[in-house]
Amino acid sequence: MQQMSHSLLVKSADKEAAGSYRLEYYSPKEARKKGVKMFWVTLGAAIFSIALPGVHFVSVPLGILASPLVGVYFYKTRKDAAKSMTADFVCPECQAKNHVAASSITAYYASQCAECGRDLRLTPL
Ligand SMILES: [Zn+2]
Repeated sequence: MQQMSHSLLVKSADKEAAGSYRLEYYSPKEARKKGVKMFWVTLGAAIFSIALPGVHFVSVPLGILASPLVGVYFYKTRKDAAKSMTADFVCPECQAKNHVAASSITAYYASQCAECGRDLRLTPL
């Protein structure tokens, strides 16, 4: 698990504060595991679709052909990619300490102060 701290801009309606955030990255092992898992899921879905009349003429061969590609795709998109982020900052309105965790990576995060409940917008810098 690699972690590096970056700075964060916290904005409320009319005030700003600085904070920090950390990203957690997929390890090569996690990326490989995800790729292998999605390979089996795709292959499994193709095999189970044998039971579907009509559809199986397309879904079975297509699923079997696609499964290695799906596995490689998931591996490649996960490898060295950020997995989640956690941020620490003080609320610009009430100065309370906040800690938020997000399970996805986006350009900014909408949050609310845990203390005063004001809407905050977190922008990674
Ligand atoms: Zn607050």
